[in-house]
Formats: sequence, structure tokens, C-alpha cells
Amino acid sequence: MIGTRSNNNLGIAAALVFATFVAACSRTQTAGGTVVVAPRDTTEVGDVSDAGSVADSTRSVGDRIRGAVGRVASAIGLGSRGPEVPPYTGTNARGIPHYARRAFTNEERRLLRAAYGIEEPHRLYVSDSTEGGLLKYDTRAKRCRSCYVNSYRVGFTSVRRAGESWEQAERRVRAMRRRDFPSSARASSNRSTADLDPIIRADVERMLADARRAGFAVRVVATYRSPEHEAYLMAMGGGRTHTLTSLHSYGRAIDIVIADGNIKRRRTRQAWIAFRRWVTSYDGDKFRILGTPERTWDWRHVEMPTSSVGFRTIEEALERARRCDGADCDFQPRLPDRMR
Ligand SMILES: [Zn+2]
Repeated sequence: MIGTRSNNNLGIAAALVFATFVAACSRTQTAGGTVVVAPRDTTEVGDVSDAGSVADSTRSVGDRIRGAVGRVASAIGLGSRGPEVPPYTGTNARGIPHYARRAFTNEERRLLRAAYGIEEPHRLYVSDSTEGGLLKYDTRAKRCRSCYVNSYRVGFTSVRRAGESWEQAERRVRAMRRRDFPSSARASSNRSTADLDPIIRADVERMLADARRAGFAVRVVATYRSPEHEAYLMAMGGGRTHTLTSLHSYGRAIDIVIADGNIKRRRTRQAWIAFRRWVTSYDGDKFRILGTPERTWDWRHVEMPTSSVGFRTIEEALERARRCDGADCDFQPRLPDRMR
């Protein structure tokens, strides 16, 4: 009986995953007709970093080697790896995250739930798409490379309410209709670099000027996005990779379109790939893209991660949760004065 039930559960889970994937695809196709804020001149409406469906691949070779060494060390029980490479880092050969497998005490579970809305700590992992990796939480376990699941960056500012789990926040936002959002959330994304984190603004403006000098026809179509605007985009289905936790909400991400923005045109695509190669080698490691220069679910997104936002380990998150005593411990954005 138990075997039958578990098979049934597996079947249901597979059906749900498939249904979500199909729904996600159809949302992408209809996005142009439903989301007025999305520029019409591009075919890829997606944004944002946290689509768990594509393997992270922007790491340097050094990062990859360190990650691999760390995982091997972990597997054979060596404790000498640095704290920057926990065993729950990255994805396996099938593109599935190395979810945390450690035991969690009741106190740890309570802290993670209260501070960060985490219902099941065994769906935590560290993405290797950004410097040192960032702790993320999947509201459902990812089971195959192309299975789409929602990932949230732990400790990121968002519309999640105090006491709400990510699962609850996701359901609430998905059920919201256009009229449920204030007009400020429905407005277009900010496009000015003046709306970025003041610390990064000059670097971004210099990069854009140098890109134009290098011959790239760059156009900025989004800079800062409020958590409410991110939620609006997600609810309206503006591309399956929209998320509720984004570096846009920290003024540390920009969406850039190249030339006519039509990724289906060969010339545009080639120029875009060349720009993506260029920007990732510009000024050290400052600018990150999603996926690889040639392959991505989000062509526009360029982000500027910072070690002062987000966690690299579960222990870091727990330590902060203890300090804020289980209250909302999310990192606050650092924005220009007039936007606060
Ligand atoms: Zn973006």
C-alpha cells in the first residue's frame, strides 16, 4: 500500500511539474499582450536571476574548481574546505541543486521560518551564479533540468509579509489581479541610472559609456524596480523568470537591450552575445549576466552583486536570524534619498 501511495504521489508531483512548465511557457508567449510595461521590441520578456531552470554558468573556472573540490572534500568527509563552499552549493550533472541535507534542529527550523519564510530547509541551496554563491530557497524541489521551479534569494527584500512563508507569499501574489496593485506598482520600470544604488551608479554609467564607445548600441530599459513592481510583473505573468527577490529592488541590476532588441534577428543576436562577453570581462567581476553569453533565459539582465546583501551559508542566515530575534531580517536596499 505504501509503495502504491508513494507512486501515486510521484505521479501527481510529475503532473504538477509538467503543468507548471506548460503554464510557464504559455505565459511567456502571451506576455507581450498582457504586460504593458514590457517593451515590445524584444522577444524575451523575462527578467531576473532566480529561474532555477538553467544551470549557473557564469562562474569563473577557479570558482568551479573550488566548488568541485569542496564537494569532493565534503563527500569524503574532509572538513578542510572553506566556509565559502558549503556542500549544498551548485547543481549536479542533471541540473538539480545540491539541496541542504544537514539535520536542522527545531530551533533552527523556527528561526528560518520566522525570519525568512522558509517552510522546508531541505530546499535551501547556494546558487553559484554570483560571487561566492547566494543562499536560495525553492518553494518546490526541482526534479529535472528543464523543470521550472521558483527560487527566492534568502534575506532579499520583497513583498513577502512578516510571518508569511514563501509558499504562502507566492500563492497570494499569483492570485492577485491587476486592480489589486497600487498604481505605483503598475507603472513602468524605472529606466534612469540615477535610481540605482548610489555606490554603483558611477560604475554603471562608465560601463555604459565605454560600451557605446566600443560600438555596442546599448539601451537601458530598466534599473530600479520596487518589490511591489516585481510582484506585479510576476502576477501578470510577464515572463516565466520573474521573481519576487531581485537585485533590481536594490538598485543593483539593469536590463539592457542591444540595437533593435530583436533576439531572433541574427545581427542583433550576434551583437548581443558580443556585448555579454564584453560586459562580463569589463572591470573585473563587477557585472554579471545570467546563463552564458550565448545561452540565457534573460538576455537583458545585468547585475552588480554585493557581499552586503544575501547569505553565502545557512549558518550566516541563522546567525542573522538570531540577532534579529526571528523578526523580519531581510536586507534593506540602499537607494537615493529621494526614493526612500
Ligand atoms: Zn533584470
